[in-house]
Amino acid sequence: MTTSKTAKPKTATKAAKTKKAATKTTVPALSKAEIKASIIKHLHSTLGTDENKANNHAWWKATCAAIQELVLERLRTTQKTHYVNDTRAVHYFSAEFLMGRLLSNNMHNFELFDEASAALKELGVELTDVLEEEPDMALGNGGLGRLAACFIDSLATKELPAIGYGLHYEHGLFRQEIKNGAQIERPDSWRDYGNPWEICRPESIQEVPLYGYVETKYGANGSIQKEWHPGNIVKGVPWDIPVVGYGGKTVNVLRLWQSEASDYFNWDVFNAGGYVDAQRENIQSETISKVLYPNDETEAGKELRLIQQYFFCACSLKDIIRRYKRAHGDDWSRFAEQVVIQLNDTHPAISIPELMRILVDRAQLDWESAWEICTKTFAYTNHTLLPEALEKWPARMIEKILPRHLEIIYEINHRFMAEVEEKWPGDNAMKAKLSIIEESSEKMVRMGNLSVIGSFAVNGVAAIHSELVKKNLFPEFEALWPGKLTNVTNGITPRRWLKACNPALSELINKKIGDDWPTDLDKLQSLSAFATNKTFQNQFMKVKLANKKKLAEEIKAQTGIVVDTNAIFDIQIKRLHEYKRQHLNLIHIMALYRRILENPDYDMHPRVFIFGAKAAPGYKLAKDIILAINKVAEKINNDPRANQKLKVVFLPNYRVSSAEKMIPAADVSQQISTAGKEASGTGNMKLALNGAITIGTLDGANIEIAEEVGDDNIFIFGLTVDEVYKLNENGYNPYDYYYQNREIKAVLDWLDSDYFTPGQPGALSSIKQSLLDGGDPYKVLADFESYSEANIALDKAYRDKAKWAQMAILNTAKMGKFTSDRSIQDYVDKIWKLDSCAVK
Ligand SMILES: *Cc1c(COP(=O)(O)O)cnc(C)c1O
Repeated sequence: MTTSKTAKPKTATKAAKTKKAATKTTVPALSKAEIKASIIKHLHSTLGTDENKANNHAWWKATCAAIQELVLERLRTTQKTHYVNDTRAVHYFSAEFLMGRLLSNNMHNFELFDEASAALKELGVELTDVLEEEPDMALGNGGLGRLAACFIDSLATKELPAIGYGLHYEHGLFRQEIKNGAQIERPDSWRDYGNPWEICRPESIQEVPLYGYVETKYGANGSIQKEWHPGNIVKGVPWDIPVVGYGGKTVNVLRLWQSEASDYFNWDVFNAGGYVDAQRENIQSETISKVLYPNDETEAGKELRLIQQYFFCACSLKDIIRRYKRAHGDDWSRFAEQVVIQLNDTHPAISIPELMRILVDRAQLDWESAWEICTKTFAYTNHTLLPEALEKWPARMIEKILPRHLEIIYEINHRFMAEVEEKWPGDNAMKAKLSIIEESSEKMVRMGNLSVIGSFAVNGVAAIHSELVKKNLFPEFEALWPGKLTNVTNGITPRRWLKACNPALSELINKKIGDDWPTDLDKLQSLSAFATNKTFQNQFMKVKLANKKKLAEEIKAQTGIVVDTNAIFDIQIKRLHEYKRQHLNLIHIMALYRRILENPDYDMHPRVFIFGAKAAPGYKLAKDIILAINKVAEKINNDPRANQKLKVVFLPNYRVSSAEKMIPAADVSQQISTAGKEASGTGNMKLALNGAITIGTLDGANIEIAEEVGDDNIFIFGLTVDEVYKLNENGYNPYDYYYQNREIKAVLDWLDSDYFTPGQPGALSSIKQSLLDGGDPYKVLADFESYSEANIALDKAYRDKAKWAQMAILNTAKMGKFTSDRSIQDYVDKIWKLDSCAVK
């Protein structure tokens, strides 16, 4: 089907009506009639059903197919344009892409949402019901994976040549069910009934070697060549997900690799003789891309995980080199001009020795030339300072799986140690600290050090985080290579996180200031002028109330809990982790409950505390905190003495599509991590953009949010980073707080009783234990009082309706900095040096 550029008269009059606001310059790529015809065509000939038999799932697939026609046409044009112009491109390597649903997003980015909705309506179908049929593409854990998804959206929107590279997990992040208050993990099967967006590209299959041994060959002139004889070869099958930029001009791709058994002979099996035993030694090829590791901010150290990392990096590098050679043959001199590779955390760091292997062993470049190319190609983003999240691999494990890579890592390190010796002669402590190899009882390879040494730029993800990377994590690298360490503050795409998820607020904004804010988010600034305008305040809060009503229905449907939409909707949504301190929120809720029981007239505005969080399946305390939230919720929600003022809701299976429903309804955004622990956060940005007021610590991007909105429009509490360090130096004793604050003592002792878990005393004791005998590593008790006071101030502020509306409007108005378009522009200017490429 071809796309018509004919404007329908109806569209023209609609545009004329809203001409006071900035008018759309683009004409819809498809008219309502064309969409309708295309949906029917696909219902018939792609799905083999008809309008009378079709259920919502069939309608969803047919609608996807109709949109996908346009997507693929623009994808072809984009790829041809990039090829003809031989563009420099960024290659975003990430073990995770948390994409969520694509239909709504793709329709919004083509500006076809209203047309498609109207087309379906004529067919007697509700688009909102159809959208609910789409399973989330949950190929990520949390913030890091969602950042990658926002970044590829911005790259396409800004018409930058870019490819996302990752893993085609058969099972994404587990589906969470709650049984008797506890988390149960169920497999996620996002492709069970087929995924309408992905395209298999068998013509670009790659082979990846694993295991085996390295042979040293001596040339006649004394030269040494290394040859890796792999024990196994795995096939990488690429699946392409088109990434539609806003406006629909550039369509980039996300290329995800699926593993399959290769037809190649398995040499290890042959050599070993013992057929079955040898086979068992090696990880089955098909299992490599089976499942996403569900650990957020924790390094698992498992062999399969390392193989996953190598597998997708090796496939991606081969893919990049194949494309480069098509234009430049065997001339490597322009490689780093054409290719920049961004490593999203250290998960793809094995790419560095892999590129060295290709250049030295296969292309036969000398080491120095190869290293020069390598260190001009890679850039690395650090996402965490948490020691348990810094990747380290046993040298013996790398030796077994990637014997040649371990040799290369040793050579990189050997040459680097000579540089260190030159800078700090005789300083062995310095060498031990900077070495890629940690000489502990078991030799370990530090992937962070490898990444810094092998990259030309290293960035943290928020101003404070980048400062801490420089000062605490890699201070010697900063001394060695001044300027290499930099900051790029994270961002979020306003297309998904405002335009698509909050249509009512978007429409209100369009009417007030025009509709060009989705690609120029600083434009929201002009809403500030209306922050004290009574009419606009009422309109803004009316939208919020409507969003709260919708969420209330969702809560009722999912949990049976009835909530009052006049109450404050207070939302904490993020992975469950001690550093994010959901238990600080919970302990405060218990304190409020206790205050109400002690004093039935306790003065507070009704408040609904809403949680969404998945815990890593092996993280016992995180799962105990989920249990505690649910048990406390059950008690409070059913206690008539308290439930007019207090409700607690845990919405199961937090994911991108549930975030899109919760965020527009939030009055309050809980961002309460221990200062110094949350690298940036992006949930904080999504909520503030939708007019939620943050209660938060001076951590990560909260600091920059506070700078933007001003201290009057945010509730900041708690220890600063420096105060946390001082507390640790001076010796922190959580028992001091337990004995000095009667409320803390009462609440913690309450957790020990069977009040919330009748007949099961001690079911929630592990939380108290971690906060007392466990030393309270995240300073929950130290911050409790300050948190409690901030909550009182917040409660007071909410009662002044006009003041609160003003604050909410100003939060939306001042979020311009946090568009991922700005983050991407920072990467372009500071690191990638990329030019955009207009696609006609
Ligand atoms: C944005 C997002 C996150 C990150 O939230 P933080 O509060 O920054 O940790 C995690 N999961 C999903 C589904 C998200 O959309």
